[in-house]
Amino acid sequence: MLNWGSGAHNPKFKQRRKGLVEKLKSKGIKDARVLSAFSIVPRHVFVDTALQNRAYKDTALPIGKKQTISQPFTVARQTELLEAKPGEKVLEIGTGSGYQAAILCELGAQVYTVERHKKLYEKARSTLRELGYSVQAKLGDGTKGWSAYAPYDAIVVTAGAPVVPDDLIHQLNVNGRLVVPVGNEERQEMVRIIKIREDEYEEEHYSDFKFVPLIGEKGWKE
Ligand code: SAM
Repeated sequence: MLNWGSGAHNPKFKQRRKGLVEKLKSKGIKDARVLSAFSIVPRHVFVDTALQNRAYKDTALPIGKKQTISQPFTVARQTELLEAKPGEKVLEIGTGSGYQAAILCELGAQVYTVERHKKLYEKARSTLRELGYSVQAKLGDGTKGWSAYAPYDAIVVTAGAPVVPDDLIHQLNVNGRLVVPVGNEERQEMVRIIKIREDEYEEEHYSDFKFVPLIGEKGWKE
């Protein structure tokens, strides 16, 4: 799937990706499909050239507009919780650099993604296109989801919300999973909501994460 002409295929970075995968395993990531996606997606292409040497450390990095490409462990944990299967429709809120969207593409999902910052939206679209990843991207407020393509088999929110945005719950398919960090602006816990059947949901909570805020009508105010 990758367009190797883009400079993404650099043996030095391939070796570092292997190291990152080992790190993720040591931190408890078990899903072999998720680990395989991390061994393929060139994270260094999603950050500025000056940061490329830090791209395979397990840390968040700045991408402009006071936003970040999330820590790889966080992306891996959210992706595991999503349980996205090939062919499923997955909505991501918070495109940022486009890295999480690329990981979802490697899992074989049909990816829809929403970003509120125009500059990030444009940059992510061009990075994903350059690498050969096909996603539907939209500029706008993702706290209201993306009703035109609903329902989704999985929805992931990559910014911290004050409460679970109800529009996102309503855009889930039966058996659909919503993974969203919820808390105050300092710390959040990961909430996974599974739609068991129409009007019946299961909710699970996972410990302590730190995200930039989800800003919008059903999120934090700017
Ligand atoms: N998933 C991204 C990646 O792989 O690089 C990282 C996302 S970054 C931690 C969170 C992103 O959510 C930021 O780009 C931010 O602008 C975006 N965001 C915050 N509130 C949003 C909203 N209401 N709708 C869409 N995007 C939003």
